[in-house]
Amino acid sequence: MDTAGTVSPAQGSLGPAPNPPNNSGLGGSNLKIHEYQAKEILAKYGVAVPKGEMANTLEEATEVTRKLFAEGAAGVVVKAQIHAGGRGKGGGVKVARTREDAELYAKNILGMQLVTHQTGPQGQKVQRLLIEETAAIDRELYLGIVLDRATSELVFMASQAGGMEIEEVAAKDPEAIFKESIDPAVGFGAWQARKLAFALGLKATQITAAVAFLQSLYKAFIETDASLVEINPFITTKDDKLLALDAKITFDDNALFRHPAIKALRDTAEEDPLEVEASKYALNYIKLDGSIACMVNGAGLAMATMDIIQYAGGSPANFLDVGGGATQEQIEHAFEILLADAHVKAILINIFGGILRVDRLATGVVAATRNLHVKVPIVLRLEGTNVEEGRKILAESGLNFQVGETMKEAAELVVAAAAKAGA
Ligand code: GDP
Ligand code: MN
Repeated sequence: MDTAGTVSPAQGSLGPAPNPPNNSGLGGSNLKIHEYQAKEILAKYGVAVPKGEMANTLEEATEVTRKLFAEGAAGVVVKAQIHAGGRGKGGGVKVARTREDAELYAKNILGMQLVTHQTGPQGQKVQRLLIEETAAIDRELYLGIVLDRATSELVFMASQAGGMEIEEVAAKDPEAIFKESIDPAVGFGAWQARKLAFALGLKATQITAAVAFLQSLYKAFIETDASLVEINPFITTKDDKLLALDAKITFDDNALFRHPAIKALRDTAEEDPLEVEASKYALNYIKLDGSIACMVNGAGLAMATMDIIQYAGGSPANFLDVGGGATQEQIEHAFEILLADAHVKAILINIFGGILRVDRLATGVVAATRNLHVKVPIVLRLEGTNVEEGRKILAESGLNFQVGETMKEAAELVVAAAAKAGA
């Protein structure tokens, strides 16, 4: 479904799940890879994919194009490689019948700021292309494997409505999506693959190949510890072949230690630079659209803090969990990351001191405020171990901190401070 989150079909809607915060313990996050990388992995499992190669430059694109035509391709498709779906509609997928057209498309797409419904209005810069031999498409179908969190089982989904956003199909015509739940003790049965193949309306001559195709996808999902495998479109060709024309795989971060080769496929150029920076210091940071930065310890408290900011009439600029055992150094880096977001008008620090003692946090906050010349107003709400010492350190710092006695009061203070600063 071209979303980062895992989707639960049992929720009734296949709408995009929000991005779960990185490594926050809220379900973990998922590594995204490019289409060309997903196809390389799937090909190893025997999944049929079009012939093609990735190109980083125009020269490489020209060379791949030359080769494909020389090997008999009737045309090539030039595909932008970004970590977002909807590229076709955004102008990032073009079919060329001649070498000249292919080169022109490559020139236009490489380096373009590609806007799709998944990139946000600013788009994503295209840094590489996948150039493939075109296929003579007969039908565009859909295949996907996701985890259903309600039943703790994988669900294999198939639909005749391929090439469209599956969320749209799920909303308008949920009956058009066929599903097979997979018992983890038994695995994906050949009978289930056959059921889905028939549901797709495939011809008798295509069923055996389709069953093998679906089984290969399932094997790839299991053996790579994937969190999502999606083929949209899964096509039949005029000469009765089955192909993965597009491929999306995301992987469960918590299992990546078992797959160093997959871990190495991470492309930080596709990620938010501040999120990449945060991950270096083991900070769980997700940038959001609002104006109030939050620094919180613990994912649950972070969620509650974002809620209470909204309740007080403000909007959070981020989700930042510094973790239970944050060091002064981490707190300084956290500040740097929060302040790098130009939308931030005020900061709310909401800490429940446990392993991270409040006095140590206060020392870190005072040091960071001085070292980084923090100008935006800071509101704190502190509780827990050594809270009195912590408050004393803040009061004696000579810096202008506001302290809220309760979460509600702190949220109201920070919303007022942000409003005053022009949020
Ligand atoms: P997405 O828009 O990011 O999901 O990118 P896709 O890889 O799914 O491509 C979008 C659409 O382009 C597909 O649904 C196809 O209709 C079309 N397309 C992709 N590759 C080919 C090809 O080789 N030949 C033709 N005729 N169309 C293609
Ligand atoms: Mn697609």
